[in-house]
Amino acid sequence: MNKLRQIFLVILLGLSTAASANKEIIRILAIGNSFSEDAIENNLYELAAADGIKTIIANMYIGGCSLERHLDNARGNKGAYRYRKLGLDGIRKQTDHMTLERAIKDEKWDYISLQQASGLSGRYDTYTPFLPALVAYVRKLAPKGCKIVWHQTWSYSIDSTHGSFKDYNNDQMQMYYAIMDCSERAARDNRLSMVVPSGTAIQNARTTFIGDNMNRDGYHLDLSYGRYTAACTWYEAIFHRSVVGNNYAPKGLHRDIVFAVQKSAHEAVNHPYEITDLSYIKSNDILYRNPSIPTEIRITDLISRMSLKEKILQLNQYTLGTNNIENNKGDEVKNIPAEIGSLIYFPTDPKLRNQMQRHAIEDSRLGIPILFGYDCIHGFRTIFPIPLAQACSWNTSLVEQSCRVAAQECRMSGVDWTFSPMVDVSRDPRWGRVAECYGEDPYANGVFGQAAIRGYQGKKLSDSVSIAACLKHYVGYGASEAGRDYVYTEISRQSLWDTYLVPFEKGVKSGAASIMSSFNNISGIPSSANQYTLTEVLRNKWGFRGPVVSDWGAIEQLINQNMARDLKDAGQLALNAGVDIDMMSHSYDKYLEELITEKKVSMETLDEAVRRILRIKFQLGLFEHPYTPDSTPSDRFLRANSIETARQMSAESMVLLKNNSSTLPLHKGMKILVTGPIANATHDLLGCWWGHGVDSDIERLNESIQKEFGPDSEVRYLKGCDFDGDDATHIQEVEKLSRWADVVVMCMGEKGSWSGENNSHAYIGLPDIQRSLIKRVKSVAKKLVLVLANGRPMTITEEAEMADAIIEMWQPGLYGGSTVAGILSGRINPSGHLAMTFPRSQGQIPIYYGRRNSARRHQGFYKDLPSDALYDFGHGLSYTSFSYGNPTISKKEVRSGDKFTVTIPVTNTGERDGMETVFWYVSDPYGSVTRPDKELRHFEKKLIRKGETSEFQFNVNVDSDLCFVDSEGKRLLEPGEMTIIVGDKQIVINIIK
Ligand code: BGC
Repeated sequence: MNKLRQIFLVILLGLSTAASANKEIIRILAIGNSFSEDAIENNLYELAAADGIKTIIANMYIGGCSLERHLDNARGNKGAYRYRKLGLDGIRKQTDHMTLERAIKDEKWDYISLQQASGLSGRYDTYTPFLPALVAYVRKLAPKGCKIVWHQTWSYSIDSTHGSFKDYNNDQMQMYYAIMDCSERAARDNRLSMVVPSGTAIQNARTTFIGDNMNRDGYHLDLSYGRYTAACTWYEAIFHRSVVGNNYAPKGLHRDIVFAVQKSAHEAVNHPYEITDLSYIKSNDILYRNPSIPTEIRITDLISRMSLKEKILQLNQYTLGTNNIENNKGDEVKNIPAEIGSLIYFPTDPKLRNQMQRHAIEDSRLGIPILFGYDCIHGFRTIFPIPLAQACSWNTSLVEQSCRVAAQECRMSGVDWTFSPMVDVSRDPRWGRVAECYGEDPYANGVFGQAAIRGYQGKKLSDSVSIAACLKHYVGYGASEAGRDYVYTEISRQSLWDTYLVPFEKGVKSGAASIMSSFNNISGIPSSANQYTLTEVLRNKWGFRGPVVSDWGAIEQLINQNMARDLKDAGQLALNAGVDIDMMSHSYDKYLEELITEKKVSMETLDEAVRRILRIKFQLGLFEHPYTPDSTPSDRFLRANSIETARQMSAESMVLLKNNSSTLPLHKGMKILVTGPIANATHDLLGCWWGHGVDSDIERLNESIQKEFGPDSEVRYLKGCDFDGDDATHIQEVEKLSRWADVVVMCMGEKGSWSGENNSHAYIGLPDIQRSLIKRVKSVAKKLVLVLANGRPMTITEEAEMADAIIEMWQPGLYGGSTVAGILSGRINPSGHLAMTFPRSQGQIPIYYGRRNSARRHQGFYKDLPSDALYDFGHGLSYTSFSYGNPTISKKEVRSGDKFTVTIPVTNTGERDGMETVFWYVSDPYGSVTRPDKELRHFEKKLIRKGETSEFQFNVNVDSDLCFVDSEGKRLLEPGEMTIIVGDKQIVINIIK
C-alpha cells in the first residue's frame, strides 16, 4: 500500500470511531441492489446480536441498479424500490414502491451505504457525476451524525458469464483492481466515512481452501458462506470488533469455513484494498467426504487431492455388461479401472453395478463413485411410444410423467444418467432418428425436452427415483444431408440460432444436468471440436455448468471427418473445444497425460472438466449413496401407475389422419377382418431403443381387437404378408375374406429396426408387398381402415387415397394394441396431432411447415406433383368437432417489457367429449431478418365436454414471444406489425418503440 493510501485509511478508520458498538441500537440502511442484499440482509443482524448489539437493518433494492438510476430515482422521487427492513423484533417487513426519501426518513439511521452496480463498479466514469449528487441528496435528508458509507462490490468468479465481465477482459484480478481503485476514489472524492471492503474479503476467501467458489452464479454470493463473508465484513467495519471468534454462523456451516471467512473479512477490514494471502488456512477434515460441506468446496477439495492419472480417468466412459444395440456394441469390460469416471451400464439388475461400484469405492485411493449411464429413450422396462409419437400428444405433462416413470425404473436398476432427451430438430423423414426427437419444430422440441428433463430429474437429482438427463445431440445433427446418418450438415449461423440451438437453450435454462456433443460436421467444424458451440455459446453465453459427453466414438471420428491428424490430436481438439467426457474413443485415457505435459491442454482445462463430472456425481448424491438398494423386479417395473401412464400416452399420441364418411368408430356387430404384418407383431411395436422392453409384455393388435369387440362382432385375423419380400401367397385368401368383412383393418408399416440410429432410408413408402395387399383388398372391401406403425412420416399418398380411414399409431411401446382397438371401437376419442409433416413424395423433402416465403409465391411449384404436404404439421382428426370463436386480446399496441393475453373460446360442437389442442403461431410480415411464414409459440390441450365451450389462452411475453434472434443469437424486437394465428383466426398487433 502506498503512503497516501495508508494515511487515508487511518483517517477513515478514525472518523468512524468505535463508538457505534456502544450505542444501544445501530441502524443501517443500504441503498443498492442484489449485492447489498447479499451482504446485509442475512447474518449481519445475527452477528451483531451474538455480540449483544441491537440493530435495525434495511435494504433498498432494485435489481442491477446503477448510481445513475439511483440519482434519477432520487430526483424524481420515484417509488421504484423494494424496501426490506429487519426490525428489533427480528421480523423482516417488506414495503414495495418505496422512495429513497421515505426510506431515508424512516429511521434515525447511523449508517447509509451506497454502491455501484457490480458490472460498472470498476469504471469510475460511471460514478461521476452521479455519486457526488447522490451523496449530497442523502446527506441533506439523512439524520444528523449519520455516516455515509461506501459498499465495495466484488469481482466475479473466474468462469462468470455476466455480460459486463468482458469489460474487464473476463479477468477476475483486473476487475478486482478496477473496483479497488474506484472505491478508494469514491470514498476520497466524496469524503465518505468508510468503505466496507466486501470485495476484498471475498477475494481473500478465494485464497483459502474455499477457492473460487464464493458465488452461486458467477456473481451473486453463495447463499450461505458467501453472504456470511460479506456480513462479517460489515460487522467488523461497523462495530470495530474483530469478527474472528464471533460465535454466530449460518446453521450447519463447517467450523473451518467459518474460520476462513471470518479471517478473510477481518483481514479485509484491516487492508481494504489489498488481498491477503490466506492460503495457509486449510481444513484438517477430508472435506469432500463431508456431506455438510457445500458441494463446490467439496469438489475443490477433492480435485486438490487427485493425481493427474486419477483426473484423466474421470473423463472417460467405458461400458459394462452386454448391449443389445447393434451400433454400440463394445467389448464387455472385464478389468475396468476403479478410478473410471463413468460407464454405460446395460443390465436391469443393480447387482453388477454394486459390484463395480464397490470396486471403485474400495479399491481406489479416493473412493470416487462411478456414474452409470444408459440410453433410456422412451422407457426402461415400461416402454412408451417413441418420442416422435409422444410429441403428437401435445401433452407436456404426460411426457413429464412418462419420463418420471422411466427415471424410477432406471434409478432402482442402477442407472443414474440417461442419454435423453433428444431435441434435434429434423425435417427429413429419411433420417431414421426422427423417431427419437419431438418432430420438426424448434419450440416443440424445446418444451417437450424441458418436460422430459423435469420428469427425469424430478425436484432433486439426489432423490432415489431421479436420474440426470442429457440433452442431445449438440448440435444440428438433425440437419443430416439427404437424411443420411452421421454425415455433413450445412447450417448457417442464422439457422443454427433460430432453429437448431433453440431447444438446447431451453433445456439448459431448465437445468439439464448434461449435454452430448453430436457426430455431425457443422459447416466445416465438427460438433465435437466446435469451440463456438461448445464453449462460446454453451458455457460463456448460457452459463452451462454440467459435463459435455461426446457421442459414442465422436472424438475418434474427428479423424474421419478430416479434422484431426490422429487420435491424440482428436483428444486435444475435443477437450480444448469443451468436450469433458470421452465416450469410447480412448483418446483421453491414452493421450491426455502427454497432452498436459506438452502443454497442449492446460491443467485449468483439465480441472474444469473434472469439476463438471464430479459436480454431477455430487448432485446425484453418489458420494453419500453409491450403491443401489436391492429390490425385486416387481418393485421396480410395470407398476400400476406406470402402466396407466403408458396407456394414456398411447391413447393421446395416436393420430387419426383420415376418417371419410365417419368410417370410424366401427359398430358393434360388424364383421371385421384384421390383417397385415403389424397385426400380430410384438417386438416391432417397440421401435428403436427399446430399453429393456420384453416382447411378452406387448399387446398384439389382432388379439386386442378381438377382445375389444367381443362376441357381438365377428373378428378374423389373417397375416396377409410380411413386412417386405415378395411372398404373395396369402394375398388371395385375404382378398377372399375381405369380401366377407364389413371392414378390413389393415395393420401395415415399418419393422422396428427400420428407424432409429443408422437407419436412413432413401425410400420411405410402404414396401411393395404391403402396397399390393392394400390394392387387392381395396378392390373388394366395403371399407378399408389403415393402421400404420412406423418410426417416421411415410409417403403413403396412394394408400391414403384408397383408405376410408387411417390411424397413425406410430411405434407405441407396450400398449398399442388395446389403444388401437379402443380407437376403432370409439372407446377412445383420438386427440393426437402430427409433430412432423407427411410428404406426398420423397422428392418434396425437405418439407415442413413455416418455411420462409418464396420470392414468387404464385410460382415455383412442382410441375409433376402438388407442392403441398400430404398431411400438414398439426393435422389430426377427432370423433367430435370443434369450432373456434373470436379471439380477444388485452392489448393491441405493445412494446418491450409488455405482457398481454390473447384468449379464444373453443366449442365442442360434436356428439362426444374430446380433447382439443390449440396451437398459437406468430407471423412477422417484414423485418431485418426474414422470418418463417409462421412459428409455433405456444400450445395447450384440454378436454372439452360435448356442447361445452372452453377458453384457451396465450400469455404473450413481448420480449420472448414476439422477438427473433440474429445470426449471433442476439434477440431483436422490431417495431411494426405482427400477426398471431390461432386456428382459422388471426389478430394483428402493433409493436411500438
Ligand atoms: C448415439 C447416442 C447414444 C450413444 C450411447 C450413439 O451411437 O448416437 O444417441 O446415446 O450412442 O449409446
